[in-house]
Amino acid sequence: MPNTITTPQCLVCETAIEPEADWDHGEIVECTACGQEHEVVGGTPEPVRLELAPEIEEDWGE
Ligand SMILES: [Zn+2]
Repeated sequence: MPNTITTPQCLVCETAIEPEADWDHGEIVECTACGQEHEVVGGTPEPVRLELAPEIEEDWGE
């Protein structure tokens, strides 16, 4: 069986981002190299994956 465990990577600069034990689904983690924010998806029992965090709109109409 192939080893499918991979270290999540920054989707922008491909820097490996070490998973941390306290990552939760939906947690926002920042790339240490370029500062891009990523949202943690997956997790137990799936492998942790990272997706680009949604742009946070500062304009909420107030
Ligand atoms: Zn990066």
